[in-house]
Amino acid sequence: MANLTELTVHELQEKLASGELTVSEITKAYIDRINQKEGQVEAFVTTRNEEAIAEAKEIEEKRVAGELRTSLAGIPIGIKDNMCTKGIRTTCSSRMLENFIAPYDATVIEKLKAEGIINLGKLNMDEFAMGSSTEYSYFKKTKNPWDLSTVPGGSSGGAAAAVAANMVPWALGSDTGGSIRQPASFCGVVGLKPTYGLVSRYGLVAFASSLDQIGPITKDVRDAAILLNVIAGHDEKDSTSVEAQKKDYTANLEKDIKGMRIGIPKEFYGDGINPEVKASLQKAIKTYEEMGAIIEECSLDIANYALATYYIVACAEASSNLGRFDGIRYGYRSPNATSLKDIYKKSRSEGFGSEVKRRIILGTYVLSSGYYDAYYKKAQLVRTLVTKEFEKAFEKYDVILTPTSPNVAFEMGTKSNNPLEMYLADICTVSVNIAGLPGISIPCGVDSKGMPVGMQLIGNKFEEEKILNVAYAYEQKTKFRETYKPEFKK
Ligand code: GLN
Repeated sequence: MANLTELTVHELQEKLASGELTVSEITKAYIDRINQKEGQVEAFVTTRNEEAIAEAKEIEEKRVAGELRTSLAGIPIGIKDNMCTKGIRTTCSSRMLENFIAPYDATVIEKLKAEGIINLGKLNMDEFAMGSSTEYSYFKKTKNPWDLSTVPGGSSGGAAAAVAANMVPWALGSDTGGSIRQPASFCGVVGLKPTYGLVSRYGLVAFASSLDQIGPITKDVRDAAILLNVIAGHDEKDSTSVEAQKKDYTANLEKDIKGMRIGIPKEFYGDGINPEVKASLQKAIKTYEEMGAIIEECSLDIANYALATYYIVACAEASSNLGRFDGIRYGYRSPNATSLKDIYKKSRSEGFGSEVKRRIILGTYVLSSGYYDAYYKKAQLVRTLVTKEFEKAFEKYDVILTPTSPNVAFEMGTKSNNPLEMYLADICTVSVNIAGLPGISIPCGVDSKGMPVGMQLIGNKFEEEKILNVAYAYEQKTKFRETYKPEFKK
């Protein structure tokens, strides 16, 4: 048998069902792997080795006694550290929440627990999910398992790196402007950002509430569908969660994609895109053509404005959401404060990192009475135009295919002091959040240095099955995972 930790979740499920593996064996194998690789990759903020072993034992006993009906019971997972986990530190990789222990579980965590899925620990991220490289974490810089001198992407970089390094079989990330898809693409794994409202945000520490969405980061497309089955669904605790019909997202995976209409928006293949990334994408498009899909070039003109719109809306919402971290109700309180005003000022000055402060200042500025109309209101108007343009495109196409990121994983330290450069890493992903659409990133090859390239498939609202179907067809045909493996190059 291939090394246990290399298996996908659906393969683990089969081996659990046949009795070839036990829950404890699986949990122990992952903990060994974490112990072996964490020194190199630095993906975890908090590990739960002992607790996970105890939970595995309990679940195994229940399984043997026939008390468990779910086939996922005993499968481990890793969680991005911005989802509240009862009794376990939830830091958002910030000094502000360094010692925050959530008093309740996020809805997604409750759902995982109901399935008997075992939490192996909390994964590193850019502070408060702001960033594209995980270098903005207060605690550590996660490395990309394909080349340890490069970044894993962000903000869910710990999650993507942990999956790529086989330290967890799958993980939950969050995506406000690309934070699931871009790190998935940098680390050669699968990342799915669901339609806004499909997955409850209750217990997800808010960054930009109208854009945030939780989703799976997995080794293959089937696992992404399986995890979406677990986390999707209406939640009365999140008023933006939608009363959508319950679906089995694995049901359509194997459907023939012949006749499927795929739009190729030319704005996503312009000068800013690395030629090697473009070449990989061209090859993928050809593969789809050979599989019988109908390929057509199209235009998403307004997408050129999506990045500017995103950074206005996201910062505006962040400046409001992060107001709660005042050193009194939540989080870090400066020991140097001498008055009430001083508590606010010093706690926030010392508790937040510079990127978070930059966003709060930008957000406060675009919401200020003198500039509201010029920036925030205008951004909201453009947001509507972006949404409408996608609506029009989906009258003609089933899915839209673009690169996930203009580049492969970049060297550590090359963008962290240049915020605008860092923001450009999201140029291909943000419009999906602006329009509330589902998007998936899957690996579509490697560049000349052996670094993974990601392609993004965008679907119409609540058409996750369609993008999963199109992604699965490509994955089966091209077998990326069987062909390329991260080498932990130094
Ligand atoms: N990198 C983007 C940002 O910094 C997106 C972050 C995210 O999706 N959480 O805002």
